[in-house]
Amino acid sequence: MSDRRTFLKTAGVLTAAAALWKPSDLFASSRMATKKSGNKNLQLEWENFMGKMKYTFTISGSSRTETPIVITKLTWDGYSGYGEAAMPPYLGETQASVNEFLKKVVAGVLPKFNNPFQIEDIMAAVDKLSTNNTAAKASVDIALHDLVGNIIGQPWWKIWGFNPNDAPCTSYTIGYDASDDVVNEKIQEASWTKVIKVKLGMSEKEDKRMINLIRAKTNTVICIDANQGWKDKHYALDMINWLYERNVNMIEQPMSKLLLDDIAWITERSPLPVIADESCQRLTDIPKLKGAFHGINIKLMKCTGMREAREMVTLANALHMKLMVGCMTETSVAISAAAQIAPKVEWADLDGNYLLGNDCFDGMKLVDGKITLEDKPGLGLTKKPGIINL
Ligand code: MG
Repeated sequence: MSDRRTFLKTAGVLTAAAALWKPSDLFASSRMATKKSGNKNLQLEWENFMGKMKYTFTISGSSRTETPIVITKLTWDGYSGYGEAAMPPYLGETQASVNEFLKKVVAGVLPKFNNPFQIEDIMAAVDKLSTNNTAAKASVDIALHDLVGNIIGQPWWKIWGFNPNDAPCTSYTIGYDASDDVVNEKIQEASWTKVIKVKLGMSEKEDKRMINLIRAKTNTVICIDANQGWKDKHYALDMINWLYERNVNMIEQPMSKLLLDDIAWITERSPLPVIADESCQRLTDIPKLKGAFHGINIKLMKCTGMREAREMVTLANALHMKLMVGCMTETSVAISAAAQIAPKVEWADLDGNYLLGNDCFDGMKLVDGKITLEDKPGLGLTKKPGIINL
């Protein structure tokens, strides 16, 4: 694995150098010397990383114990910034597809820019490279924001003018397990959290068993994520009413994203806010969800990163829709990036780094479960020693 990592890292640097080189440079030794110092060119490197989860993670439809991740690093004029693509299987991206995409960024986008402050134009060019690859795009966007924040010497919540005190507590997911003992162990481990998130959408018996096990131990408020798992709107509404009586405060994606009319029917009758996750990938999805959901869950890996996430906040506010920020299983790089918009949301589900046993960075801190945005440049990241080579 380390050989492969080294190769990919080297491949990234070599491709960057090749893309920056022009035939005319062969005869222009002074320009070559300038380019060799290279400090005003945007340089992109990356490294594949396997996120190991503390527990087997089960949601409606799948189980897994690790998540493939690619960590990126952008360098310019002696400054650097880190980014991340995290790829749960349902997203349709892999480390290989992210590596291929990043090679295209190095060859086709970065040579056109020598100024990282042009985030709008750079990310518009990155977005045009393909229709999908949203996690790969996010890995460039996040590194670019970290880089620019580091150059300016300010965090993004501050550049955007947000009040860090407005950031909510994060929820912490207690994943499904068939064993009562394992669920009880997870409840014990989650005792620090102010908001428990539970993934439902299994059978009625198993869904109610999970909630009853938690309620036997604690009355901490619960957020529900059905992950499209409920198949019938009447059943879904009955479940929501049952949950409403058990100190639950919101429902994420009760039914398939293909059943928007059924979801709208539920939303109209639900005593709890109904929030779009799988139904809401990018900015352009939001207008059609107005009326069908009370709000949206923004995730950087779906929406291509911080630039578009900030725009989604503005559009959702304009449409009077509620806001949530969520995550995949991610390291502190992407979690700290998502946390920058936390002051603008009602619910935050930024526990991805806590679910990892091998986080390679320190970043956003939780204090008594509350997202705490520090006054540190960029995303406020510190690389932990000995885990990745970037
Ligand atoms: Mg969800």
